[in-house]
Amino acid sequence: MPRPIEALVHTTALAHNLARAREAAADARVLAVIKANAYGHGIERAYEGLRGADGFALLDLAEAERVRALGWRGPVLLLEGCFEPRDLELCSRLSLWHVVHCDAQIDWLALHKTKVPQRVFLKMNSGMNRLGFAPAALRSAFARLQALPQVDEITLMTHFADADGPRGIASQLAAFESATQDLPGERSLANSAATLRHLAAAGGPLGGRVRNDWVRAGILCYGSAPDFPAHDSAHWGLRPTLTLRSQLIAVQHLQPGDCVGYGSTYVAPRAQRIGIVACGYADGYPRHAGSGSPVLVDGVRTVTVGRVSMDMLAVDLEPVPQAAPGSEVTLWGEGPRGSRLPIDEVAHAAATIGYELMCALAQRVPVRVVF
Ligand SMILES: *Cc1c(COP(=O)(O)O)cnc(C)c1O
Repeated sequence: MPRPIEALVHTTALAHNLARAREAAADARVLAVIKANAYGHGIERAYEGLRGADGFALLDLAEAERVRALGWRGPVLLLEGCFEPRDLELCSRLSLWHVVHCDAQIDWLALHKTKVPQRVFLKMNSGMNRLGFAPAALRSAFARLQALPQVDEITLMTHFADADGPRGIASQLAAFESATQDLPGERSLANSAATLRHLAAAGGPLGGRVRNDWVRAGILCYGSAPDFPAHDSAHWGLRPTLTLRSQLIAVQHLQPGDCVGYGSTYVAPRAQRIGIVACGYADGYPRHAGSGSPVLVDGVRTVTVGRVSMDMLAVDLEPVPQAAPGSEVTLWGEGPRGSRLPIDEVAHAAATIGYELMCALAQRVPVRVVF
């Protein structure tokens, strides 16, 4: 028998979350973001659930090729654009849309030989200071692109740094609006947090007032709340798309004062039954999740105890007296009999975010696509 750990990708949940993105996006079209191998789910595995999107957005040219190989003929946007001039050949061959965030990318376009002009997303730096043209440089970049026979439509784009937090998007949005006011073309502004918190909100800053043609929905498609713990996935009506589950492979009976795991960091305060789970950090479970991180055993909520090792972790069986070797353990996602453990809660216990846990799912974990 193989090691009992496995991951499940939930196709129906992906489609459900995509529908939520559509609702929140109102009239805008939805680019489902599938960078980082569809946030760890696997592009090919997530495709069935997300194929109802208006387009896909990603970073890696090899990933763009995989989307085309699946038979997808709609829009595919490269979120960081080209990394070198010859990437433009692939953009032509695969009809990719690409972000233009710097002058060098315009220089490459000007030298590119193509019969079919390309669609570009001109990125403005509205305050995040990673990529994009400063407001003062945007107009000349736009004019250069507009003059090129290699360029078809130009969509104006920016990315918010604080859509998930208390700072919000107001100042970046104001910077974007004043710099782009009289420029023509479609607009792409919102990630998941901006879509859920600022677009849908009645009277929110994007509530119908600002032109908004393409949202870029990543994490919300994968059922994680972009602003946890302020709001959880249930609040946003999202369903888990990735389950990590395993089984108990041993049970230990501890006496008061006995320890568990490396470093003996957990000391039993009383006589205690402890379950040993076939899951460790080499599977993608975060080592930084300390004692007390949430976990389900047979669908019942309990906590981890002691340090996470490479291949195993330990859980308190007090709330689950019937648990025995072979009992199902849900590290995150959907458990038995309708139980559920949001990935955001586990991430929070490890001082990180759902995004990181999804992306870190290890190669050695077998994955099944289910409905
Ligand atoms: C990753 C990314 C997104 C999606 O972000 P989420 O928070 O996952 O929705 C949107 N836009 C850009 C430019 C990105 O890099």
